[in-house]
Amino acid sequence: MEKSRIIEYYSQISDNAILCRSCGMCAGVCPKGAVSMEKNEFSQYIPKLDTDLCVGCSKCINVCTARKSTISNQSVIGKFIKIFLIRATDKDISEKSSSGGAVTALLKYGLENGYFSSVLTLDSKNAPVCAEPVIKTEITALDASSKYVCAPLCTKYSTNFKNAAATVLPCQAQSIRKIDSDTFLFGLFCSKLSTPDLIRRMSKGKSVDTIKRTAYREGVWPGNFKIDYSDGTQVSQKLNRSQFGAVYNSYLYACQGCLLCNDYFAEYADLSCGDPWGKAQYNENYIGQTVVVVRSQRALSLVEAAHKNGAIEVEDCSLEEVIKGHLKEIYNKKTAISQRLEYAKAKTDALADFGESSFINAPSSKPLNRFSINNCLKIKEKGKYEKTFSQSDKVLFVKRFSHAYLLKKYLKNKGHYGIYLKIAADEKTEA
Ligand SMILES: Cc1cc2nc3c(=O)[nH]c(=O)nc-3n(C[C@H](O)[C@H](O)[C@H](O)COP(=O)(O)OP(=O)(O)OC[C@H]3O[C@@H](n4cnc5c(N)ncnc54)[C@H](O)[C@@H]3O)c2cc1C
Repeated sequence: MEKSRIIEYYSQISDNAILCRSCGMCAGVCPKGAVSMEKNEFSQYIPKLDTDLCVGCSKCINVCTARKSTISNQSVIGKFIKIFLIRATDKDISEKSSSGGAVTALLKYGLENGYFSSVLTLDSKNAPVCAEPVIKTEITALDASSKYVCAPLCTKYSTNFKNAAATVLPCQAQSIRKIDSDTFLFGLFCSKLSTPDLIRRMSKGKSVDTIKRTAYREGVWPGNFKIDYSDGTQVSQKLNRSQFGAVYNSYLYACQGCLLCNDYFAEYADLSCGDPWGKAQYNENYIGQTVVVVRSQRALSLVEAAHKNGAIEVEDCSLEEVIKGHLKEIYNKKTAISQRLEYAKAKTDALADFGESSFINAPSSKPLNRFSINNCLKIKEKGKYEKTFSQSDKVLFVKRFSHAYLLKKYLKNKGHYGIYLKIAADEKTEA
């Protein structure tokens, strides 16, 4: 590819951040260090090309998953062998984790027993607002928990990785799998990644420079969102049905590229992990588990060995439960996405070849889609964005939860559960 074409590719991203999922893989694979990830005016990390250093090899463009769907056939959960509900037996891990600590317990077990020798993951100890990518050779309970705001993980990816593992969002799993089938991928279910402006918004005018620590999922499942400031004050809210939940799930501070992502379950990972949303959350004594979708033989061996040796508690989980618990997210990523693509295509011709064969043609509610996610695209226009910071949390809360209620009702009445379940059931494979 000519260098001029590569330069054009990056200039299209800087004009339209919807062309980037902020995974950072373009920077990770560049042999000359010509790509860096920098924040744009909406605090989203997007790549910047140093045209003097670029040698026109196109490696960066080849790993990019934002403009052309990597998933070509209809899928709901992705190929899988088995689904489990897992909890770490180490209490410290399960209490510090987001769901049940399966990721931390399996990483720890995998490192200690030679399944892999290093892990590409995130660390928030020295980065209180925006967790930083790191490569670790030891994992402890302190490494657990979801980081909903982070710097691009794959900037630390290396084509020299050997015997490595990585904790990845669906977009990162797709980018890595384009060139690497060896790295052991621990995928996380993902509705969206947020920009650091999510924390600016939650700080309500207080400078983010005075933040000592941000924790998204502290304590018993589903956990509390917490910000500690250096003056001793704090913000602390329960994750579920809180104002934080409303702001995060409003998509107002989502990375724009997430809105064109058609992978919720991290379909390209070895195993994918998410929350046990569903009935369990209404049980007072419930302390959390991780839903683990096992896709590869080596992942199944790891889970079985960790279970046999007492690192995790394991229960079977039905496909029906997973589809029911994550119905809204499946709808967003597999069906409502077509409306967002239409919107984005009108803004840039770079998406002309996106490919829509993976979308699921179930009933789609345009007004409900427009109300939530399409709004996020519209506010990322000059003059509108800063106003969202002054929008009252109470109004946002009412809007967000009435939308969630209506969407749930809509999906139930139109029978989406059956449509998605049928496709997902065909994705089961033998070990
Ligand atoms: C941005 C984001 C969005 C998510 N959206 C959903 C959702 O919509 N529905 C759902 O069911 N689950 C979602 N999850 C997954 C969920 O929050 C838990 O991470 C998952 O259930 C695993 O829980 P665990 O207790 O087993 O993991 P833990 O034991 O807590 O370990 C989590 C591991 O993942 C690493 N990690 C955390 N954040 C990131 C990140 N951003 N990128 C790469 N690695 C990371 C941590 O460093 C740690 O090693 C999301 C996670 C993230 C990070």
